[in-house]
Amino acid sequence: MQLSKRVQQLAESATLAVSAKAAAMKKEGVDVVSFGAGEPDFPTPEFIRNACKTALDAGYTKYANPASGIQAAKEAACLKLKRENGLEYKASQVMITVGGKEALFLASMALLEEGDEAILPSPYWVSYPEQIRLCGARPVIVEGCESRSFKLTPEQIANAITPRTKVLIFNSPSNPGGFTYSPEEVKAIARIIAKTDITVFSDEMYDRLIYGNQRFMSFAAAGPEAYARTLTFNAGSKTYSMTGWRIGYVAGPEPIIKAMAKLQSQTTSGTATFNQHALAVALSGDQTPVETMRKEFERRAEYMHQRLNMIKGVTCVQPTGAFYAFPNVSQAFATLGVGNSLDFSAKVLEKAHVALVPGVAFGLDNYVRLSFATSMEQIKKGLDRLEGLLGKA
Ligand code: PLP
Repeated sequence: MQLSKRVQQLAESATLAVSAKAAAMKKEGVDVVSFGAGEPDFPTPEFIRNACKTALDAGYTKYANPASGIQAAKEAACLKLKRENGLEYKASQVMITVGGKEALFLASMALLEEGDEAILPSPYWVSYPEQIRLCGARPVIVEGCESRSFKLTPEQIANAITPRTKVLIFNSPSNPGGFTYSPEEVKAIARIIAKTDITVFSDEMYDRLIYGNQRFMSFAAAGPEAYARTLTFNAGSKTYSMTGWRIGYVAGPEPIIKAMAKLQSQTTSGTATFNQHALAVALSGDQTPVETMRKEFERRAEYMHQRLNMIKGVTCVQPTGAFYAFPNVSQAFATLGVGNSLDFSAKVLEKAHVALVPGVAFGLDNYVRLSFATSMEQIKKGLDRLEGLLGKA
């Protein structure tokens, strides 16, 4: 049996070794504090769970018709995008997907060909380079600078553009960086894109998780040229703590959405119909639970940022969105006798029983990612241990 080249080239997650070890230690009864989670630690709000139960009892258990998603969910996505992002979309410009991840993959499949380039800011979400490569294209990685909270300048993006550039990946607020582009920064980048035929994948999974004075702007809201060139991605996953429901949505130019819908109809047939009914209720219902979760994440973000910067050899930019801190730990490598983020994370796990995600998985090897989608008590315990291991600044 010969596996396809496509799958042979697919990278195993660099984080797997550390997370597998953490899981094994937990199984042996070791009290591991895990900062690895990429999902909210809250239950899905009750009104959304109830909407799903109602939909099940009402018999919404057949194939979604059309496969691109039920009309009620598409209309609710339009309502949300107008209410919160100032974006006008028709239902025909929207499709409902198996989480944000499927939407992003379908978009790459619909647009990228062998030899094409996709500009990928680093640090990046782990699936991006793999999805781009699966389509035969090449990720052109452009590294963000810590002094600018990892945000790219318009010049950096302009310099990365070649005649082969088809796509720009734009993820704000960022996983893993925890940074958010301001409206002015979005507009400056949009001015560069306006002069090109590049399609922007604006991954806005964390648009409701913004902290402090930070302001957020959807890429498509930067102006008519940006709107015409942008696919706006979102999901129930992070906003409504619906990661396991596998439900997302994407809006953008109708020809691209149609192409993606064609792909979806021949692959997954979309996500569960009753989940789509629940998403419609989530997006159009009471948003109070979202704000409750956001406030708690904000409190944790401040605490984690402050504590990390008090640890010897650790510096951390302030998280302004999402639920991740992404500290530079390179000055602490020597303390543990290591030279990279993978060995650093392995040592921290072994010595302090704290699980971190090595930055190499996101393209930057001097860093580690800590998720604060875990209780304040766990956060305190984990940071006490880290400080105990590395010392006070
Ligand atoms: N994009 C980013 C930046 C993410 O962090 C995630 C999930 O971790 C996704 C997309 C995928 O989201 P979903 O769980 O809805 O597929």
